[in-house]
Amino acid sequence: MTPAISNPAKPVSDVILIGAGIMSATLGVLLKALDPSLTISVFERLDAVGAESSDAWNNAGTGHSAFCELNYTPERPDGSIDINKADKIAEQFELSKQFWSTLVLEGQLPDPTAFVHTIPHMSFVWGAGNVEYLRKRHAALLYSPLFQGMEFSTDPAQIAQWIPLVMDGRDPATPVAATRMAIGTDVNFGALTRALFDYLKGQPGVEFHLGHEIEDFRQKDDGIWRLKVNYLGLDVSRIERARFVFIGAGGGSLPLLEKSGIPEANGFGGFPVSGQWLKCQNPDIIARHEAKVYGKPAVGSPPMSMPHLDTRQINGRKELLFGPYAGFSTKFLKQGSYTDLFKSIELGNIRPLLYAGARNLGLTKYLIGQVLQTPRERTAALREYYPKANPADWQLEVAGQRVQVIKKDKKEGGVLEFGTEMVTAADGSIAALLGASPGASTAVAIMLELVQKCFPARAASPEWQARFRQLVPSFGQKLADNPALAAAVRKHSRAVLRLEA
Ligand SMILES: Cc1cc2nc3c(=O)[nH]c(=O)nc-3n(C[C@H](O)[C@H](O)[C@H](O)COP(=O)(O)OP(=O)(O)OC[C@H]3O[C@@H](n4cnc5c(N)ncnc54)[C@H](O)[C@@H]3O)c2cc1C
Repeated sequence: MTPAISNPAKPVSDVILIGAGIMSATLGVLLKALDPSLTISVFERLDAVGAESSDAWNNAGTGHSAFCELNYTPERPDGSIDINKADKIAEQFELSKQFWSTLVLEGQLPDPTAFVHTIPHMSFVWGAGNVEYLRKRHAALLYSPLFQGMEFSTDPAQIAQWIPLVMDGRDPATPVAATRMAIGTDVNFGALTRALFDYLKGQPGVEFHLGHEIEDFRQKDDGIWRLKVNYLGLDVSRIERARFVFIGAGGGSLPLLEKSGIPEANGFGGFPVSGQWLKCQNPDIIARHEAKVYGKPAVGSPPMSMPHLDTRQINGRKELLFGPYAGFSTKFLKQGSYTDLFKSIELGNIRPLLYAGARNLGLTKYLIGQVLQTPRERTAALREYYPKANPADWQLEVAGQRVQVIKKDKKEGGVLEFGTEMVTAADGSIAALLGASPGASTAVAIMLELVQKCFPARAASPEWQARFRQLVPSFGQKLADNPALAAAVRKHSRAVLRLEA
């Protein structure tokens, strides 16, 4: 244990952000836009910004809008397609685009082409049952204003024109179908995170510390949080104080939430899932693909296993990846420790962990299968999407680490969740974000909700309400119910973010 130096003369920060990923970046910029006088301190354990899950190569960079992700449109038992989740996710991404557009117009984000690009989002399936599912999905989505313009085809020639790599060498006897949404996006969340922090760091009242790890917390009777901060590499710690703390530590959020001691943290556990991609090394192949193509996950596999062949735009270069291949590691962060999972187990969450484990044996089996995959099996999976793939053109890379949320459940004992979970203290003085999906794309929607929960009086004030609407013009309205507004905000974001379609 390192001794902690306290400096009572230092003023209490209004806000401490733990972790320099996309979530803290979004919250910091949002809060500063709402009240420029707020003092904010940021602590990041690594010596770089946005280097964990938010880094471009650690996630797929899909601007999740439910255009192509089939897990957001489940088939009901009566055969109809449920588009509620798709509408919600498409709407959340529109909020992100509106917020980024305002920041560009206000000069807080410099160049949108550094982090967001247009790339068609496509779903591709084969086999009669899947073709029928995609046909019904397309018809159902066209009822929503958020999916206008989605194309559908079962014509191999048309699909080959859209995605030649996917059709080249495919058995013509197997029926295929595809949908295409021209206005999909690829987002470099790492570049965006760095741009947001570059702006934030330059603001008065903002302190920014790399190589500093939050080790522990305590809230005293005065309501102020004391955080023990370790200077990594030096045998010294200090105490920092704040009125509000955001635990935006990605996979590291769960252990910190447990240490906060707030009753709302009780019963949460985490299940780490690692990932790998095949990254294309052949520029001729990369040049021939122009889409994010999402398929159907294998029966029984978890939603994040959805295979996709993805065009990316990273640091001015066009790239191509296929994956993800799931894996298992006991680390909660890519640059974490193998003891993370074991250290997160405590009396309060052991029951939910055991119950969720027992109920998700299928997932465990799936992950074991993925971990044991041979290079030949990985190539076979790639060839389902690119039949003529040559393994020599592809290199295996490790993606980011996800920590799926396990929470206690009265009926089931414990349940495994695949979404994100915001946990806030009753007094609104601390909040944490757990989970990974749909993730970075929905950062703005999540942070708008967090601000309203944790700063309820100020969020309801006429000043903040007006500022919310300046920052996100559709704030408080539902785009899925308002075709004219949906079209208008899309047109505006497209122009400001310089999106092509
Ligand atoms: C394989 C994969 C694919 C994905 N694909 C997509 C996608 O296509 N689209 C999408 O929108 N989302 C996607 N996501 C999800 C997305 O990457 C995450 O939701 C998002 O990056 C989380 O941001 P964050 O700021 O919460 O966490 P992070 O970016 O992980 O940042 C957390 C930071 O906290 C720091 N930290 C941790 N502990 C401490 C501590 N004790 N003290 C100080 N600092 C600490 C870490 O070092 C890290 O820098 C994907 C994720 C994965 C893993």
